[in-house]
Amino acid sequence: MTNQDVMQQTEDYILGTYKRFPVALESGENATLKDFDGKTYIDFASGIGVCSLGCGNEAWLAAITEQAKKLPHVSNLFYTEPAATTAKTLVERTGMQGVFFSNSGAEANEGAIKLARKYSFDKYGARRHTIVTLQHSFHGRTITTLAATGQDVFHNYFFPFTEGFVYATPNDIESVKDACDKSTCAVLMELIQGEGGVLPLDQSFVQGVASYCKENDILLLIDEVQTGVGRTGTLFCFEQYGIEPDAVTFAKGIAAGLPFGGVLAAKSCAGNLSAGTHATTFGGNPICAAGANAVLAALTPEFLADVTQKGAYIRETVAGWNLPVVTSVRGLGLMIGIGVSCSHREAVGKLVESGLLALTAGTDTIRLMPPLTITKGEIDAGLAILKAILSSY
Ligand SMILES: *Cc1c(COP(=O)(O)O)cnc(C)c1O
Repeated sequence: MTNQDVMQQTEDYILGTYKRFPVALESGENATLKDFDGKTYIDFASGIGVCSLGCGNEAWLAAITEQAKKLPHVSNLFYTEPAATTAKTLVERTGMQGVFFSNSGAEANEGAIKLARKYSFDKYGARRHTIVTLQHSFHGRTITTLAATGQDVFHNYFFPFTEGFVYATPNDIESVKDACDKSTCAVLMELIQGEGGVLPLDQSFVQGVASYCKENDILLLIDEVQTGVGRTGTLFCFEQYGIEPDAVTFAKGIAAGLPFGGVLAAKSCAGNLSAGTHATTFGGNPICAAGANAVLAALTPEFLADVTQKGAYIRETVAGWNLPVVTSVRGLGLMIGIGVSCSHREAVGKLVESGLLALTAGTDTIRLMPPLTITKGEIDAGLAILKAILSSY
């Protein structure tokens, strides 16, 4: 098939929920991908932060193929080894108490929301169920996680949305306190708002929210679906904010391309999702968990230090060009936002056409999330394309 064939068949048979770039990708090697017409692309997107180990990582391939041969799936009515290993590793490396596995970020957040409401119900009874989230946040596409998302553009068509969400202003602790009342059971937030525009929260704000939550027995839920699993240079981003969340959600990069996610719960609330209160058919799937185990094994302190260094290199290089179209360079590790004064969507279109896969975020930001394994050579090749396009504005 050619690019054109794949594109035509897609348009003919898949519901039109996406505005896609005109490229059909066929294969890849680490952060260098190839389309059906043989053209190559440097990958500064990794899906959307999903292919954390790039394409063709040997340890990951071996782990998932061996598991697929042994046992592709068992229901959660039985015990399996890969998920038990993923859980042990995550718990030991985060200091949390336990984990519930899901298949996606939205489901992970649904789990955290259910956990918080159950915690509060068990302790205080009904009607203490409100969850405070932040403006510009993104928490998923289910009816409930859309309600949790603090952007009006997402609150359309699908009425009625789940009730019990209120929105506060990022980096404004008074706004969070004002949003809380005796019906509040949790605050849910990203530490770097990803879809909202790669907007990092201030450390003092986050710590302020954490202490306010602790004082009022409000659970602190951190959505690390995008920032987690090494993306920002630590296993989870919350480690860099000096806080102890009650629950942390993750998905995107955890299994390096397979659908997997979950919610990690701290001792404070881990016991509240008791038998029968929550479940999933696929969550904890052995092949996905084997993939996650390969990812977690790859994320050594040296590997994570390298992510931090590569991210700093990209940010400093872009800032150093001093281009008039660039309004700011933000982010942590390999989660990078470049604010631009031109149309971000048009600029990313030109990047793709020139052989660099990148993402948009917010209203004015080019978002870069390469595989964590990207090489210096691939970074420089991508930066050359980025510089050429941004210089043309
Ligand atoms: C992508 C994302 C989600 C939703 O994840 P899905 O796997 O698409 O359901 C939720 N929260 C954040 C912060 C995200 O970046």
